[in-house]
Amino acid sequence: MKFIDEVTIEVVAGKGGDGPVSFRREKHVPYGGPDGGNGGRGGDVVFWATENMNTLSKFRGKKVYQAENGENGGGGRCDGKFGKDLIIEIPVGTIVKDPDNEEIYVDLANHNDQLIIAKGGRGGLGNAHFKTSVNQAPMHSQKGSEGETKSIKLELKLIADIGLLGFPNAGKSTLISVISNARPKIADYPFTTLEPHLGVVVVDEEDDSSDNSFVCADIPGLIEHASEGKGAGIQFLKHIERTRVLAHLIDCSMAVNAFEPFDAYVTVRQELEKYNPHLLDKKEIVCLTKIDAMSDEEIKVFQDFFEEQLGKKVLPISAVAGKNITKLKRLMLKTLRGN
Ligand code: GDP
Ligand code: MG
Repeated sequence: MKFIDEVTIEVVAGKGGDGPVSFRREKHVPYGGPDGGNGGRGGDVVFWATENMNTLSKFRGKKVYQAENGENGGGGRCDGKFGKDLIIEIPVGTIVKDPDNEEIYVDLANHNDQLIIAKGGRGGLGNAHFKTSVNQAPMHSQKGSEGETKSIKLELKLIADIGLLGFPNAGKSTLISVISNARPKIADYPFTTLEPHLGVVVVDEEDDSSDNSFVCADIPGLIEHASEGKGAGIQFLKHIERTRVLAHLIDCSMAVNAFEPFDAYVTVRQELEKYNPHLLDKKEIVCLTKIDAMSDEEIKVFQDFFEEQLGKKVLPISAVAGKNITKLKRLMLKTLRGN
């Protein structure tokens, strides 16, 4: 299936700390009471489902996830500290599988669902534990046990965060192929794309400290009367319902005046409204496309017209020439985050 993000990682729980052999030091007593404390347990590796992540892209770089080891026990009946659990946030809806046989461990379907995927090792008992009436000075203790180690496959069905809208030929497929790992078909005539394509967009790839990725869908075939079930548009309108932000692409490169492309914009908005008026409430980014094929003066004329009509900024872009593409990706992420 193509709308699935998947990645395989190693999880390593912490080893339990060892229990020592230790004796209280007392004058004239070669072996005071045994006082070796217990080793601390190793930390667990825990998956924690969150609604604040949409893709598995943060797992692309790092492959091994290790929880802290437990500390060894000490003398004076001092127990070792427990190793800290490693909490790994994964997107809600992630399916956790055994990569060898595809067996599903769990499907973390709700926000804050948790699963201990690898258990930390038990701490070893110190010699104090082994003192009995017949053995007052035990010379043995236990080693901590190893933490569980597993190979884990994560799978996530992608749901689009941002939908690309626009007339046929507006440049939707080309844009998504430039900003994401999706590879939609690109053709020179309308209605070539018969299903939506989803792609993961990663913004500023060198920074993987926060979740800087989102899913973008190329929503094709939205044409006049799509809301009445004609054309291929209707099924894609359903897709749009689940997105949080719409990016509306408008091709002005062939237009002789601004009225014609503005009319295209209005037509698409009307289709949205007819299908479901709430779609108009979604946050919207408006882009003028193919500006590599326009002069600076032309760009300004169309941009001014749209900005005046809409009362907000529009972003001129060119997917082919790479103009304002980084800016658009950042704007998309910012809009999704609501700031
Ligand atoms: P869609 O129908 O909205 O998916 O549009 P496509 O991405 O298939 O593009 C339609 C046509 O416009 C194709 O011939 C593309 O090569 C062309 N095109 C798309 N983006 C650009 C661009 O940034 N500059 C130029 N000059 N042409 C573009
Ligand atoms: Mg297309």
